[in-house]
Amino acid sequence: MKRKIVIGLEIHLQLKTKTKIFCSCSTDYIGATPNTNVCPICLAVPGTLPLLNEHAVSLAVRMGLGLHCEIKDNTRFHRKHYFYADLPKAYQVTQYEHPIAEGGYLDIIADGKTKRVHLDHLHLEEDAGKLVHPTTDGRLAGAAYSFVDYNRGGMPLSEIVSQPDMNSAAEAIAYILQIRQLARYLEVSDGEMESGSLRVDVNVSLCNDDGSLGTRVEIKNVNSLKSIERALEYEIARQNRVLDEGGALVQETRMWDDASGVTRSMRTKEGARDYRYYLEMDLAPIEAKPEYVAKVKENLPEMPWDKRDRFIEQYGLSLEESQQITEQREMADYYEKCVASGAPAAKAANWIKTEIQRVLNDKAQDIKTFSLKAETLGELISKIEKKELSNTQAKDVFAAMVNDSLSLDEALKKCG
Ligand code: ADP
Ligand code: MG
Ligand code: ZN
Repeated sequence: MKRKIVIGLEIHLQLKTKTKIFCSCSTDYIGATPNTNVCPICLAVPGTLPLLNEHAVSLAVRMGLGLHCEIKDNTRFHRKHYFYADLPKAYQVTQYEHPIAEGGYLDIIADGKTKRVHLDHLHLEEDAGKLVHPTTDGRLAGAAYSFVDYNRGGMPLSEIVSQPDMNSAAEAIAYILQIRQLARYLEVSDGEMESGSLRVDVNVSLCNDDGSLGTRVEIKNVNSLKSIERALEYEIARQNRVLDEGGALVQETRMWDDASGVTRSMRTKEGARDYRYYLEMDLAPIEAKPEYVAKVKENLPEMPWDKRDRFIEQYGLSLEESQQITEQREMADYYEKCVASGAPAAKAANWIKTEIQRVLNDKAQDIKTFSLKAETLGELISKIEKKELSNTQAKDVFAAMVNDSLSLDEALKKCG
């Protein structure tokens, strides 16, 4: 029997602030010497007090608005207790009953179909430090101890909790990519899974025969899209097997082991009771009055899906082309400048999809730092239109500009 798959995701985004969420330590911690981006506040020295970073709040509100959430005024922080060496206070400051953004949704396209994924909420919280174990760090090989690095402790995070609205791995991946694109458009987060500025916990279950929700398993330690796909595939097969054999599933947290390709039970899931949540009285409620929210709203850029649809309408691009060109905001800007400089819309799209993309791949470069100006490319393409250059000649001129750093005039002379 084929059981319906149900997936809900919790996504942590590291917010792009200059300083941590409750102190003035730098957030520039990647590659920093361990325990140098720390201070008495994020090390939890008794007697210190947290001070909320307004920029972190504004980024959470930006993201919440992008996700069509309701932004709440007067929200609070709670203390979530657990005892572990990466958490110097022995509690994490997080939002619990009163998250800053509630509800909302995100439309995704998966398997050629548009689907609305509803959100539960978005909340703010601080990150924990990082343990360095002998098993995962060669420098400690054989050691009977671990190190702890608190540089990441107190980094600002926003956690986006979806409803269990996804029904396939493809939908889960499309959702993650859509969140990542939005976060980058809004400059809320780098959204990089590789460096950990976007982290996903995957909840998955199979529906009961009567269609009601089944027992869910939360999968942690999935650090790439590929491992999310593999972990889902493994876990869905495992759950089906347990049920086929007449067994019952337990609600638990399982770790994905990328090397072995299996999930392993880590712990049965703590209930809220185990965390002994209570109000963080050292922090005042967050005020997000309508005027404040309106101001944040005013400064939002065009949403990625609006840009995608506009490019289809305005430039006659196909959905696929438009998705490719608007994937990155800077690429979309590049395209529009190129068209504004005289290149026909379809030709410009073609050049970007082929020539530009190829050069960027070859040189492992990003459009943000690409040397050839969009206006110059526009001018070059318009010369093909005016029959001043053939396609082949234009490609030679392009190569001369990109590879030999020549100006358009110099390149024309060289290839002429
Ligand atoms: P917790 O606080 O224990 O993590 P939540 O109620 O906040 O629990 O849910 C966490 C995530 O689990 C949410 O993203 C939600 O969509 C998802 N979820 C809840 N029930 C199920 C289910 N039956 N199958 C799959 N995912 C689920
Ligand atoms: Mg959770
Ligand atoms: Zn600090």
